[in-house]
Amino acid sequence: MKKEILIYETDKDVLKFLRAFFKEKKDYSPLYIRKNHNTFKKILAHKTPDALIVSSPDGLRHLKPSEIQCPIIALISTSLTKGIRSVVQSDVECYMLSPFFKEELDHKLKLVVDRKSWIEGLYDENEDLYALMELASLASSTLNPKEVLYLVVKKISDIIKVSRCSMISINAENHRYADVVSSFEDPKITNLRIDLNKYPEIRRALYVKKMVVIKDAQKDPLMKEVKDIITPLGIRSIVVIPVIFRDEVIGSLLLRTSRKKHTFSKREIKLLVALANASANALYNAFLYERLDKEKTKLEKLAITDYLTGIYNIRYFYNRLEEEFSRSGRYFIPLSCIMLDIDHFKKINDSYGHRVGDLVLREFAQLVKRHTRKSDLFSRYGGEEFILLLPQTPIKGALIEAGRLMKVIKKHQFRSIKEDHRITVSFGISGTPNNKIKNYDDLIQLADNALFRAKEKGRDRIIVHHHSHS
Ligand code: GH3
Ligand code: MG
Ligand code: MG
Repeated sequence: MKKEILIYETDKDVLKFLRAFFKEKKDYSPLYIRKNHNTFKKILAHKTPDALIVSSPDGLRHLKPSEIQCPIIALISTSLTKGIRSVVQSDVECYMLSPFFKEELDHKLKLVVDRKSWIEGLYDENEDLYALMELASLASSTLNPKEVLYLVVKKISDIIKVSRCSMISINAENHRYADVVSSFEDPKITNLRIDLNKYPEIRRALYVKKMVVIKDAQKDPLMKEVKDIITPLGIRSIVVIPVIFRDEVIGSLLLRTSRKKHTFSKREIKLLVALANASANALYNAFLYERLDKEKTKLEKLAITDYLTGIYNIRYFYNRLEEEFSRSGRYFIPLSCIMLDIDHFKKINDSYGHRVGDLVLREFAQLVKRHTRKSDLFSRYGGEEFILLLPQTPIKGALIEAGRLMKVIKKHQFRSIKEDHRITVSFGISGTPNNKIKNYDDLIQLADNALFRAKEKGRDRIIVHHHSHS
């Protein structure tokens, strides 16, 4: 590309020299302003040439060099003293004194133009680095992978003018399809399925495990098979970058950007790669965290579950009991406890075997759980004994609840045992307020005592501590 040089000079001889100079130099395209300084100012307000050549002091007078974004070469021909003073006052770095020589102008022009593009390059690089840093800190500020993904595509489309930018996840089982997991057009897009038959550039990137740059989608042989699809979309250029962390493609993530107007510049591609790399780290952490979080939830659930019946285990029960008991004492809220023990369970084991006994225990636990309130806490106390804690429920309510459960269990046909073999249960109930209950152990103890008496009295009944109900 030719360098544009704007010239404001009125002296005929100097103009002659300049014309002769630029005639020989094909790298430059000179633009002469002959009319007046107003035209000159107007032009400068609208465009920034690669360099400015002005006479001093005449031309410089009309300029504020500090406001001009391009280098200036001042030509001093008429008055040496005024010319130099003007150069010094307006802080112009580069000037020439008449008589002028082509070699000198050539050298000076090269110098200022090169320096300009060098500084611009630095500015661009600085801008890119800033964007990179911003993305890295943004992406690491959240541990939600979905958010990280969106931040990355959003940021990229902010920095580089792209028509589309999305993060694509490759389906592990089926390589024909992939999922768009994030797209800057719409933050809500997650897992939009795409057919890879329509994306040869993605297939290529997966195959070579490297970035794929399509400069001109209309001409690239790779895109020939999908020309009919991309032509109407107006896609000109596409970049696909595998998101790699420590030599590992993270869940086969690919960054795909495309644009309509022009092709990606070297600088943009470099920046895209850097952005993809910067986000890889954050993404990796986020994915790792999500996995850990899931494992943690699983472990936590496991720790409070009774392995055979799938309901809460006794450890969890005691934790909650402590809480509920102190809450009940603090706010004078009634708290009840029902202890259940399956009648003659040994017989079930004896007639059907221990394995069936296990199945019956599980079915029993799930049946009762289904028929208790969400706020009630049902857990296995041990063996074929269960315990139900009823927060905010007085003895009266617990008695009704036990009665209901008794009926449900009696009516239930257990899957692995004979139809005429019905299972019955004995219930022992205790509850606050009760002056015999000083701590939660007392609450349990009284329920256990009541249960013992239910057994004693012949089973299949409900006993509230001291009072009997059948
Ligand atoms: P009752 O309570 O009516 O007095 O009679 P029972 O036969 O149910 O009472 P007991 O406490 O004497 O026996 C409990 C039986 O439950 C004995 C034990 O083998 C069985 N049992 C306890 N835990 C399990 C278990 O996890 N699986 C199986 N299959 N049986 C169990
Ligand atoms: Mg029993
Ligand atoms: Mg028992």
